[in-house]
Amino acid sequence: MMTDERKARLPLGKRAILLGLVFAMVLAGLIIWQFLGREREYELTAFAMGSYVQQTVWGREPEPEAAAAEAVQGIEELEREISWRRDGGVAHVNSQAGGEPVALSDSVGELLAEMMELCERSSGALDITLGPVMGLWDFANEPRLPEAGELAERMALVGWQEVELTGDSLSLGREGMSLDLGAIGKGAACDVALDEYSRSQVQAAVVAVGGSVGLYGHKPGGGDWQVGVRDPEGSGSLGVLSLPGGFVSTSGSYEKYFEQDGKLYHHILDPRTGYPAESGLVSVTVWCPPGMDVKYPGALSDGLATACFVLGLEDGMELLESYGAGGIFITEGGDITITEGLEGRFTLGEGG
Ligand code: ADP
Ligand code: MG
Repeated sequence: MMTDERKARLPLGKRAILLGLVFAMVLAGLIIWQFLGREREYELTAFAMGSYVQQTVWGREPEPEAAAAEAVQGIEELEREISWRRDGGVAHVNSQAGGEPVALSDSVGELLAEMMELCERSSGALDITLGPVMGLWDFANEPRLPEAGELAERMALVGWQEVELTGDSLSLGREGMSLDLGAIGKGAACDVALDEYSRSQVQAAVVAVGGSVGLYGHKPGGGDWQVGVRDPEGSGSLGVLSLPGGFVSTSGSYEKYFEQDGKLYHHILDPRTGYPAESGLVSVTVWCPPGMDVKYPGALSDGLATACFVLGLEDGMELLESYGAGGIFITEGGDITITEGLEGRFTLGEGG
């Protein structure tokens, strides 16, 4: 018996080493778990859709980094699909104008269906077929005031009613027509980012693409998210919106413009005239709250901001109400009008 027992036991020194080893392994495991599972705030700035894509993502390692990278990839893919400058779906649609329908991806088909509805409900204040006219003004490269005759010729090629969308196949009625999704692209990019966040395990995130912002999850630390509203007169913010989530987009005449013969021409056109909209507004900010019954609330907020800028204060307010969206309208005289849904959520003057 005695000898058996002795055989079964390790000598004291070896037992101590083994114990030490187990302890070290547990400790190492704990350190790795601590590092990987740590709550983290991660920031990433990329460039896509002709502007900065800024993200702040909260979650446990390594999710925030992975989700932010996936969001950038998703946005780049969207840009390839919907930019007339690239060679994806929309560019293909434009090159086939007046001819055979072009098949789009399911998601872009759905996006266009929702935007077509906005073209209709805004009485054409938003018109996604402004391509031929935007090309003439050339705001991105060498902006110039078009000749009246030239402009009239191009205007004859504008009309969202001549877009035929059947399922995911799209065609433009006449040769020379072309889509320009500049008014909704940045908001749609925010939609893509939020889709990526909800597919991943991140807890919360903010994404900003140009004048559009998407808010995901609950703000870490509690309370509402704070979104600055740019001061049309300066470079700072005019005030701050406190929001539980959703999407915010701003359209302003100060974003892109040029001066010719003492007159300013900005890049938001009135589709009825082909000239910059003169509705008495300098900027419109639109909030699409969480839970709206649309697939692309970010694109909707962006499209609504552009449409409201063209429509002006009264018709714009009515359009927002019909969608259940909120808005802040700033007139040339500096008057600020806030829709009912945003009352109490806007504070003037914070954030300088
Ligand atoms: P930004 O491009 O600065 O984010 P907007 O969201 O207001 O500003 O979009 C302006 C862009 O939308 C223009 O550059 C042009 O490509 C396009 N656009 C201008 N006016 C209209 C309009 N009435 N309907 C649809 N698209 C428009
Ligand atoms: Mg817009």
